[in-house]
Amino acid sequence: MLDILRRIVQEVSTATDLSDALRVVVARIREAMNTEVCSVYLLDNDTKRYVLMATEGLKQEAVGRVSLTSSQGLVGLVGARAEPINIDDAPSHPKFHFLSETGEDPFNSFLGVPIIHNKRLMGVLVVQQRESRQFDEGEEAFLVTMSAQLAGVIAHAEATGNILELSHKHKRKERKTARFNGAPGSAGVGLGQGYVLMPAADLSTVADKQIDDVDAEVERFEQALESARKEVRHLGSQLSGELRPEEMALFDVYINMLDDNALGAEVNARIREGQWAPGALRQVVMQYVGHFKMMEDVYLRERATDIMDLGVRILAHLEGPTERREDSFPDDCILVSEELTPGMLGEVPPSKLRGLVSVKGSSNSHVAILARAMGIPTVMGVVDLPYAQLHGKDLIVDGYRGILISNPDKDIRQQYQEIFEEEQALQEDLEVLRDEPAETKDGHRIPLWVNTGLLTDALRSLDRGAEGVGLYRTEVPFMMKDRFPSESEQQKIYREQLEMFAPAPVTMRTLDVGGDKALTYFPINEANPFLGWRGVRVTLDHPEIFLVQIRAMLKASAGLDNLRIMLPMISSVSEVDEALHLIYRAHAEVIEEGFDVVMPQVGVMIEVPSAVFQIRDLGLRVDFLSVGSNDLTQYLLAVDRNNPRVADLYQAFHPAVLNALKLIADGAHEVGKPVSVCGELAGNPLGSVLLMAMGYDMLSMNSTNLPKVKSVIRGISHEWAKRLLDQVMQIESAHVIAAMVQLALEKEGFGRIIGPASGRG
Ligand code: PEP
Ligand code: MG
Repeated sequence: MLDILRRIVQEVSTATDLSDALRVVVARIREAMNTEVCSVYLLDNDTKRYVLMATEGLKQEAVGRVSLTSSQGLVGLVGARAEPINIDDAPSHPKFHFLSETGEDPFNSFLGVPIIHNKRLMGVLVVQQRESRQFDEGEEAFLVTMSAQLAGVIAHAEATGNILELSHKHKRKERKTARFNGAPGSAGVGLGQGYVLMPAADLSTVADKQIDDVDAEVERFEQALESARKEVRHLGSQLSGELRPEEMALFDVYINMLDDNALGAEVNARIREGQWAPGALRQVVMQYVGHFKMMEDVYLRERATDIMDLGVRILAHLEGPTERREDSFPDDCILVSEELTPGMLGEVPPSKLRGLVSVKGSSNSHVAILARAMGIPTVMGVVDLPYAQLHGKDLIVDGYRGILISNPDKDIRQQYQEIFEEEQALQEDLEVLRDEPAETKDGHRIPLWVNTGLLTDALRSLDRGAEGVGLYRTEVPFMMKDRFPSESEQQKIYREQLEMFAPAPVTMRTLDVGGDKALTYFPINEANPFLGWRGVRVTLDHPEIFLVQIRAMLKASAGLDNLRIMLPMISSVSEVDEALHLIYRAHAEVIEEGFDVVMPQVGVMIEVPSAVFQIRDLGLRVDFLSVGSNDLTQYLLAVDRNNPRVADLYQAFHPAVLNALKLIADGAHEVGKPVSVCGELAGNPLGSVLLMAMGYDMLSMNSTNLPKVKSVIRGISHEWAKRLLDQVMQIESAHVIAAMVQLALEKEGFGRIIGPASGRG
């Protein structure tokens, strides 16, 4: 069964559209289960009816025509109960509904299973048989498994608009506005043109794109094909001495496959239909790969890999060395990728970047944090997005609500254009606060610092009136390189940061890689990266990396003396002792080298639950404490900050998180140490009010949010915030807390500044 299942899934995933996929599914299931009928009914959300979308065994004319209301028939019952129904005498069931158009009269056995995706009912998958018998447990389990696989395919197709196309079969699909839901990654609205960024030469993710100049595209493809042919011949001749004749024959097979009459001819035909060469190549190669993988013969099945390899070779020649030049990005670029990385952000000139969209990841992913620092509207975790098709499309990124809109109609575009202009106006209004202190109406002052990583952040931060840097993520410059930067390279980068803010303090965090922050040149492959080798754990195991970094920081601070050093991911006091020992050693070495550097303040990040419960012991060892609320939330709630599936459970206002934050603030003050927050909660105007009320001494945030937070702090009193905190601490639900604080601030007149509620706790 498992093998059959695997092959059906493979075949479905290479189908060109939903109707194809459904036809394959019903045919293969009927065959595998040896039944007479297999059908798929999909729930049309507009009409709330189950429409017969594909069948093997019922009349084909009924497809797309026959439908049932959501409470009609056994299909309706499966949907309503959201569980399988398995009966041997369907016609005598009270819910049985006879559909004469399908010719289903004599079928007695019925097994129907719901098709559910992310808690949403999408349809019902049914098998039927004349003979009156109960399907056995194995068959039921098989159908349930098939349906779970199918759910993903249908959700994806629904997102693309294919379902609509199916039910109105003969009407041509018009350019239709489509909306995709993800998570808010970075607030703001961006309007522009999609630019799909693929990892180099990954054939399966190449986008579809229509072209006008067919002849030129055919010519481009022919050239790539010829280069690939030469390459394969060359490879063959190089290996001729080492391979046996039958292995050498494989190269001839390759050359033949590349022949104009085989694969090449099919790609050419698709280009002639208007598809660009890489898209046409992907379609043909994936189809071949699908066919070969289906074959019983092991030898032939393995040829799928050869075809894929050929496809990738041709693609590499098609892409050529000039792809991804800076001028290939549109002026209003909305960057779309399956998985955005911080490196990708660096590829597009910032002046052209209007928005970001990532299929994977969530609002707590590091790329989203960078996007917020750069002030670029971002939607993360748009899991069902047919992202490869968005290249060159008109797009709107709604980073407030986590929505992506493609092909917006005139009204929607107008609506968003107004929001965009309103945002610009708000930024200008807030500029006047630049040199004003963050002080409440009753005179409570709370310094607002910034988080930085890129040089552009630092420049923006100065513009926005930051009083210091609370978190400089040193891993960002490490990620932009293809090897570890040397001590003198690091010294130069750090010096720039320190000089830019001097005499204001700059808190440099030691290298925090692992988790979702990978260095291409230092891969860490682990089953549980967030619970693995991360942050200080890595650098304590590699004192040579740690010492080089600390020395570079210390040397960079010579004559400025505004450096503070901060340790990430501390989970026990021994790590602090060890790190302090190395820092003292580095300091002594630097002094010995003749640098005149004072010993900087050293602090610890509180990001792990164990650190919360040892806050006093940690506080006694260092000069300051700073809460990394992003990781602290992830570890307290056991929710991967990067996983869109559990993004709803990542609740920044969870009562457990707020209680932990209060414990930390009180504990730090008991041992007389200053404590701040540098996680995203500090830059959330709602969060900042609660943190100030808890007694935090400083908040560090991205520069985009700093003026908003300042404006809110200046507009309320400390007493008001403390009263709000008292009420909030009585509440058990994250959603209620978030809604309460939102409402309270709206009532105080901050609706425009805090923006719409994201609906998350
Ligand atoms: C945090 O975890 O809150 C934090 C500031 O660090 P990062 O987001 O870089 O992990
Ligand atoms: Mg962290």
